[in-house]
Amino acid sequence: MISFTLPKWYDLHTHFRQGDVLPAYIQAHLDMGCAGALAMPNTKPPTAIVFDKDKSEYWSIERYMRDLRNAGGSKFQELVVPLYLTIDTTPDMIIEGAKSGILKACKYYPPHGTTGAEFGAPIDKYIENGIFTAMEVAGVILCIHGEEHGLSPDKYFDRSTNAEEIFYSTHMPIIRDKFPKLKIVCEHITTKTAVDFVSESSDKVAATVTPQHLIYTIGDLIQGLKYHLFCLPVLKHCEDRNALQAAVTAPDNTKFFAGTDSAPHSIKATKCGCAAGCFTGGIAPQLYAMSFELAGVDLSDQKSQDIFKNFLCLNGANFYNLPIPQENFTLVKQASPLKALKTSNGEVMPLPLGLGMDILPWAIQN
Ligand SMILES: [Zn+2]
Repeated sequence: MISFTLPKWYDLHTHFRQGDVLPAYIQAHLDMGCAGALAMPNTKPPTAIVFDKDKSEYWSIERYMRDLRNAGGSKFQELVVPLYLTIDTTPDMIIEGAKSGILKACKYYPPHGTTGAEFGAPIDKYIENGIFTAMEVAGVILCIHGEEHGLSPDKYFDRSTNAEEIFYSTHMPIIRDKFPKLKIVCEHITTKTAVDFVSESSDKVAATVTPQHLIYTIGDLIQGLKYHLFCLPVLKHCEDRNALQAAVTAPDNTKFFAGTDSAPHSIKATKCGCAAGCFTGGIAPQLYAMSFELAGVDLSDQKSQDIFKNFLCLNGANFYNLPIPQENFTLVKQASPLKALKTSNGEVMPLPLGLGMDILPWAIQN
C-alpha cells in the first residue's frame, strides 16, 4: 500500500463563508491536514477595509479574522484574509494595512465575474489609481481572478478564445511589465495560455491550481450537465488540462501550488442556473493525488512524492513567506467512503459525491 507523510499544508485559496456554517467548513479543512488557509473576502458585505476603526459598510479584515478564529480557525497556524479591492480602496489603506502586518494580500475580482464579485472594478482602475503601485511598494501580494468581464456570450467561450485567455493575453502582460516587483498569484488558472504566462514570467508571478481543473474537462460538465462541476473559471479543454497537469508535475516546479477554491453551497442549483463553485473541503489532498496519477505520475516513487510535496506543501508557503509547518499528515492509497458534510444550513456535497462517486481511492491519516 502506498503511504507517504507530508508536512501540513496551506490551502492558499478557499471560501469559508460566514455565520453559523463556519465551524463545519473550517473543521473540514483541519481534517485534511491544513495548517492554514487564505480565506477569500467575498463575504456579504465584502471584506474591503483592513481595520475595525475605519467605520464603513464593508467588513474589516480584523472582523472576519476574528469570526474565523472563533469558529475553529484559531487551530490554524496561519490565516490570511486578502483585502477585497473595490472602487473605495485607497493607497493609504494598503500602506497602513501592510505596516500593521494584517494586510498581506489583495484580491481582484472581475466585476460580476463570479459569486460575490459585484463590488469589483475593472482592472485598469487599479493600474491608474495608485493601488497596484502601493501594493508593489508595500510588498502586498495581488491575487487575481483572471477573467475578462462583461463579454458577450459569443466571446465568453469562443472556439479559439475565452474570458481567461483574453485576460491573460491583454491585461496580465501589462500589469506584470508595469509593476515588475509586484508579487502576483494567478488564481485557479484553467488554460494553457495562463500556464504559459506564469511560466514565462519572473519568479514574482505564481499560480494556484484547483483539483477539479486538474482532473476534469468541459466535457465532464456538459455530458449529463453535471452541475456540481460548475465553477468559475469554467472547466476547459483537454489541451488546457494537460498543460496544468504538466505544470504541477514538473520536477522543477516552484511556481504552481495548491489553492482549492473550495466553495461550499448548500443550494447548488438555483431557480435560474447554478451557483459557481465546487466543494472540496476534507478531500483536496486525495483529489490532488488522483490528479497526479491521472497525469501518469507513480506516487509510490520517492521522487514523485517530492514533486507532489512541492506542489501541495512547499511552493505556496514559500511564495507567501509562510513557515513550513512542523506537524505532518499522511496520505494513504486506501479506499475511503465519501459523505455529505452536515452544516447548520443543510448538507453540502463534496464534488466527487455530486458526480456519483462515493468512494475515493486515497485516504488521509492525521
Ligand atoms: Zn474563489
